[in-house]
Amino acid sequence: MNNQTDFTKTLSIIVPCYNEEESIPLFYAETIKQEQYFHEKGVEFEFIFVDDGSRDKTVEVIKNLREKDERVHLVSFSRNFGKESAIYAGFEKATGDFAVLMDADLQDPPAMLPEMYSYIESGHDFVGTRRVDRKGEPPIRSWFARRFYGLMRGISKTDIVDGARDFRMMTKRVRDAILSMKEYNRFSKGIFGWVGFDIKWLEYENIERVAGETKWSFWKLFLYSLEGIMAFSTVPLMLSIVFGMVFCLLALALLIFVIVRTAAFGDPFAGVPLVICAISLVGGIQLICIGILGMYLSKTYLEVKQRPIYLVKEEF
Ligand code: UDP
Ligand code: MG
Repeated sequence: MNNQTDFTKTLSIIVPCYNEEESIPLFYAETIKQEQYFHEKGVEFEFIFVDDGSRDKTVEVIKNLREKDERVHLVSFSRNFGKESAIYAGFEKATGDFAVLMDADLQDPPAMLPEMYSYIESGHDFVGTRRVDRKGEPPIRSWFARRFYGLMRGISKTDIVDGARDFRMMTKRVRDAILSMKEYNRFSKGIFGWVGFDIKWLEYENIERVAGETKWSFWKLFLYSLEGIMAFSTVPLMLSIVFGMVFCLLALALLIFVIVRTAAFGDPFAGVPLVICAISLVGGIQLICIGILGMYLSKTYLEVKQRPIYLVKEEF
């Protein structure tokens, strides 16, 4: 290793790991290959591995790495808290001027690090990556993923980009911004969009993981997408207002129809249509009231998250 004093900046490489004993050594070996480029620029690496309650030898593997390399750091969770929590812990632990978030399975190619850094150098605060295809993924999963992003575009004001990976490099101020969002139910794809900043997107083709298997079942992804919808949209809470209005309008239309018909032809059903109108009308009014509750609840929901009111990019 070069003389440490030569380095003026640090890049924190944050790696959430859940049962990744096989991938970590491969990941480390590949990533360290990029070191030369960064050393020439006066940037030193810092590895932050976050063990998300792994049940295999992940922690031991990381400890072995630490014996060889002092720049390796570990945060080990008491149980599996999920990737979102691991990301947050990694951001808290990182001390670098820049940080990059990477998966342990080499699906985020370390070979892209120099290019990502070049954009940071040229003044971008945030460099994101997008997969341009979903090769190697079951078609049904891709289909649902597309629908999800389409829906999110419609119901959320936050920019959530289709195919965007968590593989992102950022300056310290973006990292601080993300840390300032302390909500418990975290949906990083939304949080990254919410904080804003000048983002540069790089595209690459999907790569399959080197070892181990994906931690995401279809069901887990489905629940995660619901999480995303609830964290970044309050539209579902307002849905009952829409239904309620539709019901009321239908009930009124029906009422007019029944009155006109009764006046013209008498009432062969002895009041039954009127009862149906009354039930629909009352049902609609109830739905509207629930919707009003939903609107207040959605405001309360946004308040309890205590998100920052604004984030500053620059100031004099
Ligand atoms: N991961 C984690 N906690 C979890 C699930 C996953 O820290 O509960 C980590 C995992 O070790 C990997 C990254 O998150 O480094 C991405 O997971 P995976 O490769 O399984 O997801 P995919 O690439 O299939 O979306
Ligand atoms: Mg993966």
